[in-house]
Amino acid sequence: MTVLNKLTSREAIDLEDKYGAHNYHPLPVVLSKGEGVYVWDAEGKKYYDFLSAYSAVNQGHCHPKIIDAMVNQAKTLTLTSRAFYNDVLGKYEKFATELFGFDKLLPMNTGAEAVETALKIARKWAYEVKGIDENKAEIIVCENNFHGRTTTIISFSNDPVARKNFGPYTKGFLKIEYDNLEALQKTLESSTNIAAFLVEPIQGEAGVYVPSEGYLAAAKELCAKHNVLFIADEVQTGIARTGRLLATCGNCSCEEKNCSGRPEVKADILILGKALSGGAYPVSAVLANDGIMNVIQPGNHGSTFGGNPISAAVAIAALEVVADEKLAQNADRLGNVFRKELADFTETNNLVKSVRGKGLLNAILINDTEDSSTAWDICMKLKENGLLAKPTHGNIIRFAPPLVMNETQLMDCIAIIKKTISEFKK
Ligand SMILES: *Cc1c(COP(=O)(O)O)cnc(C)c1O
Repeated sequence: MTVLNKLTSREAIDLEDKYGAHNYHPLPVVLSKGEGVYVWDAEGKKYYDFLSAYSAVNQGHCHPKIIDAMVNQAKTLTLTSRAFYNDVLGKYEKFATELFGFDKLLPMNTGAEAVETALKIARKWAYEVKGIDENKAEIIVCENNFHGRTTTIISFSNDPVARKNFGPYTKGFLKIEYDNLEALQKTLESSTNIAAFLVEPIQGEAGVYVPSEGYLAAAKELCAKHNVLFIADEVQTGIARTGRLLATCGNCSCEEKNCSGRPEVKADILILGKALSGGAYPVSAVLANDGIMNVIQPGNHGSTFGGNPISAAVAIAALEVVADEKLAQNADRLGNVFRKELADFTETNNLVKSVRGKGLLNAILINDTEDSSTAWDICMKLKENGLLAKPTHGNIIRFAPPLVMNETQLMDCIAIIKKTISEFKK
């Protein structure tokens, strides 16, 4: 068997099992094609994608405008390293900083790298601008956070599966309860060595926890009062997923940009990834104003692939698609339909406890113990019925389709979800 032969699903799974590290537990479906809101398995069965690669494919699979930008750039110039300039990066930096309302952008590749970058910037700012003594800076994070998989990031995770036996851990992090302003205030008052507060506007991996109305704005205000940087990790919530360009949507002229924004809070440091490329390529970024970003000088930080011309061309196209196709408004509108329909359904069905979320980042809570396999078993049935979703922590199923979905498709998906759960037997 050569790698060029088309594999059956069974063969593809067996190969990964035997030759790949077992660092994931995928649903047993092998995808070989994607277009818009659909994916097809190796045998040609069609599914609705209700995960969107953890919200990386907001613009839909293989969006022609993004793929064209990628292919054209790939044929012209792929990588120069930052030892030299390239003629796309500056254009992208201008476009993205104007769109999100920041002075500067630092380009990286993955979400975890962008989070690491933000932490490094915040620490350096703390020593050089705020005046904290060297090696004393602390960063406040939230319980049940998810910010990626590097050694430093898992150091402040409280997921035992992600942490155990990867120590010793990086110091300098203080953990507080999410959505708890009192805890934030207390911690801010407890020390003069605090550099930053790192927060997800909605905790995605933890099970789509939406904080109380006004939490983010009040948290930002508390941070400002203590001269502490407010860092928003919008790797999953950003790029129209929650019905606005950003879940924190700040002074970025949402109306002009055709996003259905309700401005709430502008981060001091904004972290983007995932859908910044529409899922075509690993592209992440950190945005901040000069007073913060200028602490980074030549040699302080970098990445061989960060800011490469393909990533820059792809990101411009991916952001243009969001505006052209009004994906934020669509996510906002369809999200309301989805939650209304599912909320009505939970009244009639006792296997589902509730539905929550914002825009098209939603989750249903299964009425069973946290460690039961019910959510997984329901996802297996959904798969049989043509819809792919994945359980997340604590018997929760996340529903996050591509934002290019239309209402007819959404109603079709809602019917599949209701039918599957109604017929479900443990
Ligand atoms: C996915 C995610 C990350 C990590 O991104 P990677 O590209 O997987 O490294 C960081 N923060 C949040 C909120 C995420 O959802």
